[in-house]
Amino acid sequence: MGDDGSERTKPNILVTGTPGVGKTSTASLIAEQVGLKHVNVGDLIKELNCYDGFDKELDTNILDEDKLLDAMEVIFETAAEEGQGIVADYHACEIFPERWFDLILVLRTKTETLFDRLAARGYNEKKRDENMQAEIMQVVLDEARESYTKEIVHEVQSNTIEDMDSNVDRVNQWTKQWLKDNAD
Ligand code: ADP
Ligand code: MN
Repeated sequence: MGDDGSERTKPNILVTGTPGVGKTSTASLIAEQVGLKHVNVGDLIKELNCYDGFDKELDTNILDEDKLLDAMEVIFETAAEEGQGIVADYHACEIFPERWFDLILVLRTKTETLFDRLAARGYNEKKRDENMQAEIMQVVLDEARESYTKEIVHEVQSNTIEDMDSNVDRVNQWTKQWLKDNAD
């Protein structure tokens, strides 16, 4: 097939969406049940201290994107060399090179459900509202559609445990098909 993806023997998947939609929970299950390596990008940023100052107005650390992408490039290259696939989870998707991923799973959650989850997480009103607004405006989904080929962007609901199980199942089926299609 000639693109970068065809050199991999296992697929790489990005689970993305607004904070609280269930990326980390879903990606952990995918890692376990599909047999992929879970990369929690938010955790990686903290571990490697990928910060470039602090934005006082937004009350948040500024991401050192170059440092993060350099570190991830090594992780992705190493995984590919070892015949490992990766399931990454992060609340943004447009910062990554397109060639890294074979599937972009965008999780969606109803406003009331997301409210409860963000409240349980101790987010203040401003942060809750910002994230709920972003989910209503489908910011991450639009970003995904702008950054990747339409065919690889899959939008799925993540409101209930049944949704999560069905999403993991779907990724499992998708992976089996990917392995067939990419077998030598
Ligand atoms: P994210 O990584 O997207 O911020 P998490 O995976 O940390 O989200 O999930 C946030 C909270 O919502 C957790 O308490 C998790 O158990 C719960 N949760 C996530 N997805 C679902 C779902 N599909 N159904 C029910 N609860 C969920
Ligand atoms: Mn998370």
